[in-house]
Amino acid sequence: MKIICIGRNYKEHARELNNPVPESPVFFMKPETALLPKRHPVFYPEFTQDLQYEVELVLRISRLGKHIETRFAHTYYNAIGIGIDFTARDLQAYCKKNGLPWEMAKSFDFSAPVGKFFPVETFQDKGNIAFSLFKNKEIVQKGNTSEMIFTFEELISYVSKFVTIKEGDLIFTGTPAGVGSVNIGDRLDAFIGEESCLKVDIR
Ligand code: MG
Repeated sequence: MKIICIGRNYKEHARELNNPVPESPVFFMKPETALLPKRHPVFYPEFTQDLQYEVELVLRISRLGKHIETRFAHTYYNAIGIGIDFTARDLQAYCKKNGLPWEMAKSFDFSAPVGKFFPVETFQDKGNIAFSLFKNKEIVQKGNTSEMIFTFEELISYVSKFVTIKEGDLIFTGTPAGVGSVNIGDRLDAFIGEESCLKVDIR
């Protein structure tokens, strides 16, 4: 399986990192080894001085597809969950500055914890899903799918022009504003609506 991540899908987040608001989706990938085994902590990697969280809603792909039209894209995922796109922000800044690929900043081991998934039918309006992230019980990020630049269906359609998606693949759909750093000892708690769906301890 593969993990496809969308960058800059929330205007306020694009602005906070001084990036232009994109005209088409930006995406990159993480390998399967980026998943975090259940109840494992994230050990602060030794190669970064600035590990940051990005809370994101995650789609679970339910069947194989390529060149998917937007109007059919809703039939290619069957569950929505939440995850954290951990980023070594200092390495990412180095990669951006030098025109290098982002893998070392984004695709390292355990950089993609995901929580509980809910069947798509659970959501009455996919264009109005609230989610949030708490760090040590204080809210640090708050988003709603109504603020996305590209809808879930547009993202699937776009990505599938380049990459065949397969059952079990995950798509991280972008982070809202409020990204920030973690330190050893922090606890992150991600919510969809009022429900706690993912807890991650930094050790
Ligand atoms: Mg992200």
